[in-house]
Amino acid sequence: MNRRKFIVNSAKASAVTLVSIPMINNEVFASVECKDLTSFSQITLPYSFDSLEPYIDKETMNIHYSKHHAAYVKNINEAIKEENIQEKNEISLFKNIDKYSSKARNNAGGAWNHNFFWECMTPGGKPMPGKLSDSIIANFGSIDAFKEQFKKAASTRFGSGWAWLVKDGHSLQIGSTPNQDNPLMSVSDFKGKPLLAIDVWEHAYYLHYQNRRADYINAFWNVVNWEFVANQL
Ligand code: MN
Repeated sequence: MNRRKFIVNSAKASAVTLVSIPMINNEVFASVECKDLTSFSQITLPYSFDSLEPYIDKETMNIHYSKHHAAYVKNINEAIKEENIQEKNEISLFKNIDKYSSKARNNAGGAWNHNFFWECMTPGGKPMPGKLSDSIIANFGSIDAFKEQFKKAASTRFGSGWAWLVKDGHSLQIGSTPNQDNPLMSVSDFKGKPLLAIDVWEHAYYLHYQNRRADYINAFWNVVNWEFVANQL
């Protein structure tokens, strides 16, 4: 049900049931989930372009957010109109992504993945909460072993793509996806609920690190917002 129809129907319903429900307030509307996905948007970057320096430089952040990410958002919103995509939310779109064009797949992934990636970082990083470190140690043996495996996934992803830490049932898994695919997509070989992501497209590091992807991945650990990662558990 779209929002306008819902409000109209609710207004009719409230007229009929006025005696038994004297007040229909905003809280009632807010508690009913009936929003259809009509567009993607860029989150407001929760820090300034230069605040991840020296690990991720200002110019890379500026171009990455203002040009690359903005273009994915613009293009998925075009595709939603062109293909008359009607999904409840972003997650259900990814579940059904095989039904849509490569334009929808690439740009929906690009829009969502970058919003997630920006949240995975914060100036100076944030310490890892105990529940997350316990879980990482239980799954990978140690924090260092986890970082080594994540780095391997990120550095061996051929061409452009992403590396991920995901939750799959009760276990944590590390893997990577090509292009702008993500582990929520029906078409992905690697699936799970994303906890942490790193963008390993050259546009994410080339200005500062040139071909040295491994140096960029090492630097990334200095800005990871482990609090955000733990909140995804
Ligand atoms: Mn990117």
